[in-house]
Amino acid sequence: MTESTDGRPVLVLNAGSSSLKYQLVLPESGAVRAGGVVERIGESGSDVADHSAALSAMTERLRADGVDLDDVPLRAVGHRVVHGGPEFSAPVVIDDGVLDRIRQLSALAPLHNPAAVIGIEAARRHYDVPHVAVFDTAFFSSLPAPASTYAVPRDLAAKHSIRRYGFHGTSHQFVAQATADLLGCPLGDLRQVILHLGNGCSASAVHGGRAVETSMGLTPLQGLVMGTRSGDVDPGLHAYLAREAGMTLDEIDTLLNKKSGVLGLSGVNDFRELVQRVDAGDEDARLAFDVFVHRLKHYVGAYLAILGGADVLVFTAGIGQHSAPVRAAVAEGLAELGIVVDSALNEERSNEARVISPDGSHVVVAVVPTNEELAIARQTADLVG
Ligand code: AMP
Repeated sequence: MTESTDGRPVLVLNAGSSSLKYQLVLPESGAVRAGGVVERIGESGSDVADHSAALSAMTERLRADGVDLDDVPLRAVGHRVVHGGPEFSAPVVIDDGVLDRIRQLSALAPLHNPAAVIGIEAARRHYDVPHVAVFDTAFFSSLPAPASTYAVPRDLAAKHSIRRYGFHGTSHQFVAQATADLLGCPLGDLRQVILHLGNGCSASAVHGGRAVETSMGLTPLQGLVMGTRSGDVDPGLHAYLAREAGMTLDEIDTLLNKKSGVLGLSGVNDFRELVQRVDAGDEDARLAFDVFVHRLKHYVGAYLAILGGADVLVFTAGIGQHSAPVRAAVAEGLAELGIVVDSALNEERSNEARVISPDGSHVVVAVVPTNEELAIARQTADLVG
């Protein structure tokens, strides 16, 4: 942890229902003064009763890491908020009205927004500095109407704010710019297909820095196969399960969000373990890997069509940055579309942004690390000045 010369840090908070991730970031240099996660909030037997106690625990841990928040005055706190609904298309300074709106948006993101609200309330009590909400949906508020509109009756959609919102926007936006920097090419000139493959997975098509398609929808359940989420299924599955398996709506929601995806197919959701099982000849793991890759190819093909061809295909997040077998499998058989991966470059281990396609490839294939905390810190600092 280097000492700063470039001003006051931004505290970035990502509050989940039972965890609080934190990072103290100097937005200009990107230096991280400290960071960590407080877990098991509110669980039985845990010392951390609620999010307010989690912030106290965080303050203690920061002190143990040599950072006393009384001596290192904060510039602002940046909060990751999953759902910004129809109105939040950019970061916003949080006041009581904004907090109320984020609370109301819990109907659209019942698994995510309530925790963010509790985290924001606790942090506003603890830190008397500007608080900024950075929304996971904001980057995709630019989706053209044909991409954001579901083919359901328009009055119903308007009444209930039903549209494709997209998520992981902070990451896709950061990676789009970082890829342009890597290639030494203006962002405005690039057609990019970006694959964010972490615990949650999403794809985007970005044209000239503007998002024109993404795989997630009204909720973060749509699209790619994920660790525990099914991604795309026939919408008829819900009614079928209700009728044939006697399941309630909540049970179906839990099934598709928490028990499906790679976990549901193979019994494990950590991708490292999945790949180990594939190598050991486990057939369930093999099928999970193949379904994961098949869905990815489906979206890559779709986005090449949406963009009228791509200049670059980008892999990011835990799986995208670290799993050479996934990258190789996605590119396999796509040479006619201009997508080729150089196996030696692909196998190289590195935490740096890098190109893994051969020189002169029609489509550049790149691995570009995401950094959502830094993106949130920068957007927060830009807003509060
Ligand atoms: P993230 O949400 O970006 O932290 O990504 C988490 C996912 O990345 C988990 O499924 C991890 O198993 C996966 N992951 C992390 N490191 C590796 C690796 N070396 N190889 C394959 N998957 C990895």
